[in-house]
Amino acid sequence: MYDVKSRKAEEFISDEEIRETLAYADANRENAELIDSILAKAGERKGLSHREASVLLACELPDKLEKIYALAEQIKKDYYGNRIVLFAPLYLSNYCVNSCVYCPYHLKNRHIARKKLTQEEIVREVTALQDMGHKRLAIEAGEDPVRNPIEYILESIDTIYGIRHKNGAIRRVNVNIAATTVENYRRLREAGIGTYILFQETYHRKSYEKLHPAGPKHDYAYHTEAMDRAMEGGIDDVGLGVLFGLELYRYEFAGLLMHAEHLEAVHGVGPHTISVPRVKHADDIDPSSFDNGISDDTFAKICALIRISVPYTGMIISTRESREVRERVLPLGVSQISGASKTSVGGYADPGAAEEVTSAQFDVSDQRTLDEVVNWLIKLGYIPSFCTACYREGRTGDRFMELCKNMQISNCCHPNALMTLKEYLEDYAGPETKQAGMELIERELGQIPNPKVRQTTYEYIHDIAEGKRDFRF
Ligand code: SF4
Ligand code: SF4
Repeated sequence: MYDVKSRKAEEFISDEEIRETLAYADANRENAELIDSILAKAGERKGLSHREASVLLACELPDKLEKIYALAEQIKKDYYGNRIVLFAPLYLSNYCVNSCVYCPYHLKNRHIARKKLTQEEIVREVTALQDMGHKRLAIEAGEDPVRNPIEYILESIDTIYGIRHKNGAIRRVNVNIAATTVENYRRLREAGIGTYILFQETYHRKSYEKLHPAGPKHDYAYHTEAMDRAMEGGIDDVGLGVLFGLELYRYEFAGLLMHAEHLEAVHGVGPHTISVPRVKHADDIDPSSFDNGISDDTFAKICALIRISVPYTGMIISTRESREVRERVLPLGVSQISGASKTSVGGYADPGAAEEVTSAQFDVSDQRTLDEVVNWLIKLGYIPSFCTACYREGRTGDRFMELCKNMQISNCCHPNALMTLKEYLEDYAGPETKQAGMELIERELGQIPNPKVRQTTYEYIHDIAEGKRDFRF
C-alpha cells in the first residue's frame, strides 16, 4: 500500500504505485490536453508529482518536448541564474565489505589497490585540492566498520576543516558514506557536515538485492530509509541520486521523485540535491554488462524533467560525464559540477602514482584541470562559483528551502558567486582565465539589482584584490 508519509521503504517507494504510475504514463503519453495542463502547472513553479512527471518522461511528441526543454531552461535561469557551483570528491578509503556488482571496490575484487588515507595523507590531499582552488569537497569512503569506522570519518572531517594553506580553506565538507544509524548521523551533523549524500543506486527492490548480493548494503529497507534517519539525526540537507543504467530509467525516475515527495511530506523539506550518475567503466566493471544504459538524449530529458519537477533542488553532474554531455545539460538545470576530480584514494597529491591508476572507483570522462573547467564555464557565459555561504550562515533545511522557494536565494548566490570567483582568480587562476574572469565580474556586478548589495559587493571585491578573504551574504 502506497503511503507517502510511511516510514517503511516498501510503502513510500511502493512497487505497485510505481507500476501504476508507469501504466498511467503510457496511457497518457500522447494526451496533449493532459500534457499541456502538467506543463502549465510546472510553469507556475509548483513542481510536479511523480505521476505528472512520468507522463512527461513517456511523452515523445516533438512540440511538447520542446516546451519541456524551454521550461527547464527558464526555471534554471529563474532559480540559479548563470551560476555553477564547483566541488571535488575526496576518496578517503576504498576498503569495502559490500559487494555492489557495478563498483570495483566490492569486497571480492582482489587486484584493485586498497588504500586508506592517514590523517597526514589527508592533509596532503587537501593541500593539493586547496592549491587548485577548491573550497567545497564531497568525501567518499567504502563501508568497512573496522577500517573506516565513524570515528575515522569524523576525525578526517575535523582534519579537513582545520587545514589552512596560503589562502586556501575547505569551507564545506559534504559526506557520501554508507547508510548508518541516527546516532552516527547526529555525530556527523555535530562535526559540521554540509550535505549528506547517499545514492539509492536503484529503487527496484528485487534488482537492488541482486546488485548487492552480500554485505550490509544488501538490506534494501535500511538503505532506502537512511535519509529519514539522517534527518532524524538533525542533518537538514540530504542529497539523493540513482545510478542510471542499473534498472529501467522510468522506474528509477518515478522512485526518485517519490523519495523526494516522501522527505517533504515527513520532514517538511525535500532533498537539497539530486545527482544523476550513469554507470561507467571501472577496473573490473564493464558498463555494457548492464542492459539498461540510457542514451545522451534520454539523459538530457531526465535532467530537464528533474529541473521542472523539483525546481528548488540543486542538481549535480560529475566528471563521469564528458565535457560535451556536461555542456548539453548545464542549461537544463544543473547547478553543481565537480572539476578536476580524482576518483582514486590519494590521487590529488600523487597524481602519477601507480596506485592512482589502479584504485579508481570509475573512469573520469572529463579530465580537465580546474582552471580549464573554470575557463570553459566563463566562455560559455556561466559564473563559476565557489560559494559555501548558506551552510555557514545557518541557511540549511527548511530555512534554505523557504528562501529558495521565494526566489530570494538569488540575492545571496549572485554576489557570493562573484566574490568567490574573484578569490579564485586572485589566488589560483592562469593568466587567460584571470583576464576572462575579471571581465565577467565587471559585467555581472552591474546585474545585481539591489543597489545596496551591489555597492557592498563592489567594496568586498576591491578588498579581495587587496588580500582580504571570505566575504559572504
Ligand atoms: S558502491 Fe560503495 S558500498 Fe558498494 S562496493 Fe563500491 S564503495 Fe562499497
Ligand atoms: S548562497 Fe547558498 S545557495 Fe547560493 S550558491 Fe551559496 S551556498 Fe549555494
